Amino acid sequence: MNRFVIAAMAGVLACGGANAQVTEEDLANDQANTAQVVTNGMGRGLQRYSPLETLNKENVQNLVPAWAFSLGGEKQRGQETQPLVYDGMMYITGSYSRLYAIDIETGREVWQYDARLPEGILPCCDVVNRGAAIYGDKIFFGTLDARLVALDLKTGDVVWNKKIADYKAGYSYTAAPLIVDGLIITGNSGGEFGIVGEVQARNTDTGEIVWTRPVIEGHMGTLNGEESTMTGTLNATWPGDMWKTGGGATWLGGSYDIDTDTIVFGTGNPAPWNSWLRDAGNPEGNEGDNLYAASRLGLDPATGEIKWHFQTTPREGWDYDGVNEVVSYTDRAGNARYATADRNGYFYVLNREDGSFVSAVPFVQEISWASGIDENGRPIFVEDNRPGDPAAAADGAKGETVFAVPGFLGGKNWMPMAFSQRTGNFYIPSNEWGMDIWNEPVTYKQGAAYLGSGFTIKPLFEDYIGSLKAIDPDTGETRWEYKNEAPLWAGVMTTAGGLVFTGTPEGQFLALDDETGETLWSFQTGSGIVGQPITWEQDGEQYVSVISGWGGAVPLWGGEVASKVNYLNQGGMLWTFKLPRQFAQAN
Ligand code: CA
Repeated sequence: MNRFVIAAMAGVLACGGANAQVTEEDLANDQANTAQVVTNGMGRGLQRYSPLETLNKENVQNLVPAWAFSLGGEKQRGQETQPLVYDGMMYITGSYSRLYAIDIETGREVWQYDARLPEGILPCCDVVNRGAAIYGDKIFFGTLDARLVALDLKTGDVVWNKKIADYKAGYSYTAAPLIVDGLIITGNSGGEFGIVGEVQARNTDTGEIVWTRPVIEGHMGTLNGEESTMTGTLNATWPGDMWKTGGGATWLGGSYDIDTDTIVFGTGNPAPWNSWLRDAGNPEGNEGDNLYAASRLGLDPATGEIKWHFQTTPREGWDYDGVNEVVSYTDRAGNARYATADRNGYFYVLNREDGSFVSAVPFVQEISWASGIDENGRPIFVEDNRPGDPAAAADGAKGETVFAVPGFLGGKNWMPMAFSQRTGNFYIPSNEWGMDIWNEPVTYKQGAAYLGSGFTIKPLFEDYIGSLKAIDPDTGETRWEYKNEAPLWAGVMTTAGGLVFTGTPEGQFLALDDETGETLWSFQTGSGIVGQPITWEQDGEQYVSVISGWGGAVPLWGGEVASKVNYLNQGGMLWTFKLPRQFAQAN
């Protein structure tokens, strides 16, 4: 490329247009640049906080629909995407591995890509997708048959299409990819099938793998096509050959902390669920911890080497996946911190330098499996609340049933929380529920469920399950709580205008007061909201978008809760709202 062409491109970069390119700088500035949304999390630190204050507590009651877009077809299942906004377009993914490019002024479809999915895909928990990634002149998303597809941003033409893993062995893909320094970084799904969790980094131009990092000890990583280092130490925390099918699916994708140049991925449950089959038999030691399942891992983005790990649930036995998002933030005293709200019911604060433990508090009620978290960040187990060993039962077929809290869908599941730089608080979409759970014998069979457990989720309280909580990360105090009858399953967003946005399965899109939790505005979207809101500014007006379309894991796996919410209607509609100019000016 000659100097003239580079200069011409630089001009195009500044103003958008036919050859617009998303750069590493765009990704790094995504939170500050309110004219576009080019990352999952509205910034790779996943704060989901917008510095926009055009729309605020005083004028939010004037927020009105600008346009709506139907995903169409018969494929109306859970819609969990986070929209992206770039160069006059909005990009969303849909159920069954679809991707749409939409004109942002009018809501008109510009192009649509439907992945051709094979028979026999094995998504555990609905046919969802949680969003795309943009870099250069391409948009990327993963598909339910565990492939990664790169499309031309303008035309939707396929540039490359690569296999992440074998769907026939239980692998799938649902997360939004992460892009760092020109590498596209993905995890995998399939923790209920005895797969092995892994993080992969590819060249965004070619789709070729640069490095891989399996997350279960004993497996070998790769760098530039050659073996790099083993993950952990073989058989240090896993007995026998159990590590070979050890789970730890990295199914929610990752975040990027630019200050420490660290990618952070969470890892799912160890496989199988029956923890007695992974127990080294020494309750005092850590031989049965099953690293690095149910953990957070800090990775070097250039090589995939593990910098640090923090395991939330050692010897995990309740499906408390450790995948929930890790948010980078600065606390009120100026310390660089991570926060994560785990499936196991505890909200953790970690040190961003090395992932070390700072504090933990419960964010749901009546946690039964642990009595607390010790000074090292390790849970203090309540051994009586561990589902019993089937080998100890008289018939060897079913271990003792326990009622455990939280239920396996978690004190919080995948739906992302938000941090407000305005209040310094986190806003956590949580659920108050428990489960009957018992263990059974199981042997691994490729492509078959590998659980060794049975379970029924039950509500804890008569009148509500969902609970959005404002939590002060410095004190652990709950500042306010918004209760919802159905379980919450949507993402949260905060703004400098003092607003907290989220949606409910009952279809309400809500704007709450960030200091009191009071409902300041709501809109009925016609189906349940399990998607992730965004906001941006265009021509001096502030816009807010969210997708509506009930589904996800609750209707499939929610036990007694699922039967309470089976009246909810499915859908598939992207809503875009705006504050009309005259109301913004009046403020
Ligand atoms: Ca799991």
